[in-house]
Amino acid sequence: MKCSHCNRQAVYYQRHSGRHLCKKHFIYDFEKRVRYAVKKYRMIESGDKIAIALSGGKDSVALTFALDRLYGERKDVEFVAITIDEGIKGYRPPTVEIAREITSQLGIEHHIVSFKENFGMALDEMVKLGDKKPCTYCGVFRKYLLNRTARELGATKLATAHNLDDETQTILLNFLQADIERLARLVPQRVQKGLVMRIKPFREIYEKEVVVYCLLFDLPMDMNECPYSYFPVRAAIRDFLYDFENKYPGRKYSVMRSFETLIPCLKEMFPQIDLNACEKCGEPTPKRVCQACVLREELERAKEQIR
Ligand code: SF4
Ligand SMILES: [Zn+2]
Ligand SMILES: [Zn+2]
Repeated sequence: MKCSHCNRQAVYYQRHSGRHLCKKHFIYDFEKRVRYAVKKYRMIESGDKIAIALSGGKDSVALTFALDRLYGERKDVEFVAITIDEGIKGYRPPTVEIAREITSQLGIEHHIVSFKENFGMALDEMVKLGDKKPCTYCGVFRKYLLNRTARELGATKLATAHNLDDETQTILLNFLQADIERLARLVPQRVQKGLVMRIKPFREIYEKEVVVYCLLFDLPMDMNECPYSYFPVRAAIRDFLYDFENKYPGRKYSVMRSFETLIPCLKEMFPQIDLNACEKCGEPTPKRVCQACVLREELERAKEQIR
């Protein structure tokens, strides 16, 4: 099949636009949508130091590569990558290695921050000690370390690799669970003291396009799934969206556009509150003590009990 724009062989059929794209036009189209999202929400501005949350999985590797390709030459923007090593045996070490390789190839400063060094135990140990789900510890501590490290490095923004699939799943998930406050947290450009602003340059990119982008540039792709991964409701929504998109291409964009239309209402309903400094660690929190400190103390108590 020929590309819809030139005589070259197509490598991808873009269902939502009905176009066949060759390698050159696929990359052009992909990066155009990254640039569009970046510009629309002023994700990258002159003077920014962008910390990239680089797990070493395919999405964050593609994000690091794309940001470097698109903005790496700019003298007024700086990039640094942060990898959080949660301590998940067999799963995390290979992706930490990939993160190391890609940042060294691109010449991007890279910081690896581990749960073990910061909280005294790896996620694998936390899971054995505590009574919470692995993803609860993982999510709270990862966000905590990413934010603190980015801020300490002087970063003005924290880029994550969430793509159109991730975002639309989260939008629907919050909607179906009637958690509109959480939905409001997805509003781009939220500014809160102590929190480095999150940016999501892949919010207009389908997950399968990220895979194709990786393949076309021969980027390392680790497709392994975390052994603790267990999100039954999200998985149901993912499957529903997948089928819906298959039958009616472009509907993930419709979900995204509907959400964007609601942004002014969401901002009005849930104005951003000033955060407190945690009484224990000083990190930002809406409460007196941050969730990371609450969980850390619970785990320390559990550890004491078995001594
Ligand atoms: S699936 Fe859960 S435990 Fe595994 S990396 Fe993701 S949040 Fe962490
Ligand atoms: Zn072409
Ligand atoms: Zn704290």
